[in-house]
Amino acid sequence: MFISLSRLPADGLPFNHQYAEGELDTSEHEFEIVSLPEVTGRVDRAGMDMRVRGTVKSALITTCDRCLADVQVPVDAPFDLIYVPEDPGANHVGETELHDRDLDLVVYENEQINVDDLVLEQLELSLPTRVLCREECRGLCSQCGADLNFEQCQCQKPIDPRWQALADLKNSSEDET
Ligand SMILES: [Zn+2]
Ligand SMILES: [Zn+2]
Repeated sequence: MFISLSRLPADGLPFNHQYAEGELDTSEHEFEIVSLPEVTGRVDRAGMDMRVRGTVKSALITTCDRCLADVQVPVDAPFDLIYVPEDPGANHVGETELHDRDLDLVVYENEQINVDDLVLEQLELSLPTRVLCREECRGLCSQCGADLNFEQCQCQKPIDPRWQALADLKNSSEDET
């Protein structure tokens, strides 16, 4: 979905779009969409810059960092972005006023806002940096791949070198006393 800026009303343009199945290409992202996104927002002009703000609602499926099980992530992501023209020589009338506010800058091309890109970006940003199916997830055995949440494998647990260093340190300090 694109919003054309060439005939943007002077008092801004509200928009709302409910995505349909297959409308967004998520092949380059590490999530799957389980609840089709809805985006609501408005575009306001400030000289050549456009302020685009609103909310993306959806739900995603991604994988647990430890055991790779599916984890559902609800999305209710507010955004507030400034779109600047592609041409760096363009005259930014609203620049000083808007750019001072430390908002995210995005470039627009061909007098239009690419809402699909905006939504995909917001979905990506709403994924937590650490995804766990549950806080106490035990993950997969690094040797045999067994899911330790469900089974106890027979592998010897290798000692993490960091813990080994700590244990050595503790032993040597105990020797000194
Ligand atoms: Zn897990
Ligand atoms: Zn194992």
